[in-house]
Amino acid sequence: MSNEESRRGFLKKAGAAGALAVFATTNIGKIAEAVTPSEQIEARGSELDSDTKVVNTTCLGCDARCGVRVQANNDQITRIQGNPYSPQNMGFDPIPYSTPHAESLKVAGQVCLKGASGAHYNYDPLRIVAPLKRNGPRGADKWKVISWDELLKEVVEGGKLFSDIGEDRHIEGFKSVRSSDLLDPQQPELGTKSNQVSMIYGGGGGQEPRPTFSKRWLSSYGSVNYSDHSDICQLPWYFGQLFGTDFKSDNYRPDYDSVRYVIALGICVFEGAKPGLLGVTSKTVERVANGDMKVVYVNPKAPKTQLAKWVPIQPGRDVSLVMGMIQWIMANNRFNKKHLENTSKQAAEKDGELCWSSATYLVAPSLRRFVRASDLGLGDKEYIVVDPATGTLVANDKVDAGTLEYTGKLTINGEEVVVKTGFQIFKDLANEQTPDEWSKQSNVPLETIVELAKEFTSYGNQAATDSYRGMDQPNGSYMNWAIFMLNTLIGSVGVKGGLIKTGGGFNFKTGKYDLAMVKGAPKGGGVRIDRNEFKYEDTSVYKNKVAKGENPYPANLPWFPLTKGRGSYTQALMGIDQKYPYPIKIVISYFMDAIANVAGGQRYIETFTDPDKIPLHIACMTQYGTQTKYADYIVPDFTYLDGQYYTGGYHWSPMMATPVRTPVVESASKGISFEKFLIDVAKAVGMPGYGSNGIPTKDGNQVSLDSADDYAAYACANLALNAKLPDAKQEEISFVEKNYLCAPHFKKVLEAGDWKKVCYLLARGGVFEPKEQIFNEKGHHKYSPALLLTFYNEQLATMINPGTGKPYHDLPRQQLMGRDFFDRSLDEVAGAEHSFNLVSSRHGAMAFARSHNFYWATEIVPENFVELNIDEAESLNIKDGDMVRVSSPYLKEGSVGKAKVSNLISKGVVFIYHSYGRYNSPGSQEWTVEGGADKAVQGFTLGSERNNLLFDPKLVKAGVVEGNKVKADPRRGKGLSGNELGSVWEWDGKTIISSDIVSGGGNFYYHKVKVEKI
Ligand code: SF4
Repeated sequence: MSNEESRRGFLKKAGAAGALAVFATTNIGKIAEAVTPSEQIEARGSELDSDTKVVNTTCLGCDARCGVRVQANNDQITRIQGNPYSPQNMGFDPIPYSTPHAESLKVAGQVCLKGASGAHYNYDPLRIVAPLKRNGPRGADKWKVISWDELLKEVVEGGKLFSDIGEDRHIEGFKSVRSSDLLDPQQPELGTKSNQVSMIYGGGGGQEPRPTFSKRWLSSYGSVNYSDHSDICQLPWYFGQLFGTDFKSDNYRPDYDSVRYVIALGICVFEGAKPGLLGVTSKTVERVANGDMKVVYVNPKAPKTQLAKWVPIQPGRDVSLVMGMIQWIMANNRFNKKHLENTSKQAAEKDGELCWSSATYLVAPSLRRFVRASDLGLGDKEYIVVDPATGTLVANDKVDAGTLEYTGKLTINGEEVVVKTGFQIFKDLANEQTPDEWSKQSNVPLETIVELAKEFTSYGNQAATDSYRGMDQPNGSYMNWAIFMLNTLIGSVGVKGGLIKTGGGFNFKTGKYDLAMVKGAPKGGGVRIDRNEFKYEDTSVYKNKVAKGENPYPANLPWFPLTKGRGSYTQALMGIDQKYPYPIKIVISYFMDAIANVAGGQRYIETFTDPDKIPLHIACMTQYGTQTKYADYIVPDFTYLDGQYYTGGYHWSPMMATPVRTPVVESASKGISFEKFLIDVAKAVGMPGYGSNGIPTKDGNQVSLDSADDYAAYACANLALNAKLPDAKQEEISFVEKNYLCAPHFKKVLEAGDWKKVCYLLARGGVFEPKEQIFNEKGHHKYSPALLLTFYNEQLATMINPGTGKPYHDLPRQQLMGRDFFDRSLDEVAGAEHSFNLVSSRHGAMAFARSHNFYWATEIVPENFVELNIDEAESLNIKDGDMVRVSSPYLKEGSVGKAKVSNLISKGVVFIYHSYGRYNSPGSQEWTVEGGADKAVQGFTLGSERNNLLFDPKLVKAGVVEGNKVKADPRRGKGLSGNELGSVWEWDGKTIISSDIVSGGGNFYYHKVKVEKI
């Protein structure tokens, strides 16, 4: 051996030894190895080892729905990477959809740390694998394993279900609760007794086709009570956009592919974002680094990057910043005049524009509505504008352009009223304060406000705003409306480089198979327990009170008539708690942890422990956590890697995209899942739409619905057929049939021709539209509708706040900051000692309570901190690492955590990453199982090939089971929970969860707290 060879060999060995040393002394090396793109698959091409499988599927580490390529060896998941067909995993520049599957194996897409850690979720030692029944009072952590048949019999038939532990209560089962009799003949609008079953869906788990499957089940049962998690994620964000589009459209974000300038308020595209890190994040990093776009981040906490300019702000004050910008934009004529002057769709079309606005329409503010042509004898429902050529009032369809600035008087129905154009209303609103006052109210220097306004209007319509959960506060809907108006002013809504609506997903619900409809379902209907989509003023209670001359206000609880199909599980639980407008008898909670995930959610412990409020609670979940703790029965479930299908869109995407999820490995729950539970209950109760002939087909036939696999097979066939996919080539069909666990069943239930198209879909992990097709020659976005953008919203202006009996505020005013349903100041209610505002958002490595199961992710970010501004910390004598107590009027003993002080937090703010702490971590509490805990959870054995690969014993600290005990894992539940400090408001003598006052959406940015060193 030459010296050179020897040196090279030495270096090679030394390098290997170095790597080994890193692996031996820290887990980071192991994590880095796991998340680094692999060449293994690439080297093998499509000729994979006989014991190696590769499945393109969809992640559920958070709710972003990234495509993942999962590798399994000997039926054990060994590696998770990004699916390169999936735009979200490739910075929205995926490999062409037509790329043969074998070719695709040469490219690995991005995946985040949680996504790469997915196997830990699947193989979590604490995963529940058997049906469980409470064996002590609710919340006592005592359980026993029961058989599937026992579970079904008990929940369907009811009876004295807990007499064996001394509870004499008779509990109604699904069979007896189901009834087409009216709940209350005096209140027919409430619907039938079947509405007393309420299904509550948690965030992230509620992914298609399960929500459609579940709503279908409820429809077959006869209940309207499906409530999802939109309130704790984004309802105020949706609402702000609904206010700005006359309640026609929402789910808009910047076109990150070509936008030049973005002001992001309360959403950090470099961190938790909406939700998940991929796609938008990598595109933004690349474009900002290249100087192609600029991002300004307005938030109480700085971004963890210098790629964005940070504008610190205090909660609730964003509206002052935005109104200051609008004032400057209007005063300096920096708005898109031509765009705003258009009076109608036709006028906009002539200008090559997609949207038009009510900037020129006359409004009578005292009547809280637009002036109509019929008011002046000029027509019917048309709006009235001022013709700039003649100065006369005309119907909006008579001229293409209207006057923007106008104030006058008109006689309407014999009353003289002041009228203004929509533009004038906003201008007057913006001028209610001087520039200095906006600066003072927002705590943002005036020069910064002017700079933002100038920059935002310097790119034509190639600028946009982004906002999200940081606007989840009591005035959130209004703030989001003001933010949306910035886009309206420059004409960027719906255009390339502007603000565009999500492309959504391809249709899986209908087509060849009708997966939403149930033949023979009860008529159903009625008021939902979350009081969504129904007006209090339409209830019998209200009408009777009015008839008797009584004041009908306040209502027993808030009502949310404008939610447009969105859900609100916090409000559902408040309704259940107050038995308002009717009592619920059975709660099915699915993947939901309201106690942990809602700010102030500990209020629900009282609800869940009271059998009078919830007589029967069945929780479906993969891990034991705060929600399951208070259930009567626990139904185990598939994970996203072993059986939970997916056929919906991304959380947000500029193009149409449907990543599909199918199982990679056999399920630890041995076939037990949420679908199995619902199907078996349906069959036992005798509900229509299940078993043979359960699903109607387009050609008038029926096919059977007996399993989740059936439903997913039909959903995939609908997708493939609706998207007009080609037949897969034989090589890809063979690949799918060899690698995909669902293949035998799908092939059996689908027609042969359809199966070939479904193979094309499965081999690519979904169906993804090329981004080249999403803008037309005018630059209009295919999925952003042509619509009226509203400077004044009649529906909002005329809606009555059930707390006060007065109309809701008609415009986004600063005075709405930090006020509750009764218009009380939250600062005053909390008192001066609670001078800080508590703010929370997600860490990029932590999405939900269940993120604690992702060992690699939690190894990197094991706990959270109480983050404070350095100057304020100093005045409180708090240094980095000190233990501090954060308390609120609602949790006087407070929560204790480690301080982190920096100048990266706004003054007056305490920041705590959510999803940490005692309430938040499935597995952080000990529980017992009569007859042996090993029968209840998956368990963990070191030494097996799989476990050695995935789990470092140092990471899996729990001994897992010991006799009847499922032991707590001290790694989980570290840090503290900000949510438990969350405010709870008084409402007519009772306490309710604080929320956005119009939408009922969660409040995560306005909770008054006190901080002290301990
Ligand atoms: S961002 Fe969310 S969905 Fe995407 S890989 Fe990470 S955890 Fe999975």
